[in-house]
Parts: sequence; C-alpha cells; structure tokens
Amino acid sequence: MKTKHLLKRMHKKSLQSKAKCHVVGVGISKRGNVLGIEMSSPVGSRHAPLGHAEWRLMCKYGKALDTIYISRFSKAGNNSCKISACSMCKGLSERLGIKIISLTNEGVNYEQ
Ligand SMILES: [Zn+2]
Repeated sequence: MKTKHLLKRMHKKSLQSKAKCHVVGVGISKRGNVLGIEMSSPVGSRHAPLGHAEWRLMCKYGKALDTIYISRFSKAGNNSCKISACSMCKGLSERLGIKIISLTNEGVNYEQ
C-alpha cells in the first residue's frame, strides 16, 4: 500500500474541517482498495468512540475492511504525531480482525 498517496488524500479530506486538529481514517479493503475516508467529529463525550474516524469506518464497512490507517492533522497539514486508537475502537477492530495503523508524514512532501 502506498501510504504517501493515502496521506495526501487524508490531508485533503482534513481541510474540510474547521477544527484545529482532527483525525482522518482511511478504510482499506482486503483487495487493497480504498473503501472510504472518514473524519473524526465531536460527538458526545471525549471518551465515546462514536465520533472517531476509525469507529465510523468500522460501522460502515465492518468485515469488508482489512486495514484502517489513521492520522492526526493540524490545520497546517502537520501530522507528525503518532496516534493510537482508543480501547473501544481497538476492541472492535480486534473482534472484526481489522488492523489499525497510525501514519505520520515524516518525509512526505505534499507538493510532489
Ligand atoms: Zn476510538
């Protein structure tokens, strides 16, 4: 999977948000196709997974997913900090057999 290309798409998606920081998740099928891109949104409490990008992908696509890439972007497009799925999302992904991988933009030039 070419994650550099994915990060570009994720960054583009993140620009739709007015929030300072947001998590973008990309769902990849078992064949390696992009099923969908979701953004986190503030739903309920901080600890509820309903607004999490990875949770939304799993609700939408379920077992069709093979891997979910998650990345956290600032407004400037910086996503150098690694994030990890919360225990709720992790629990669900393990039940469904989906890998959740955090991407950072180390060495990625969006202008290319
Ligand atoms: Zn979560």
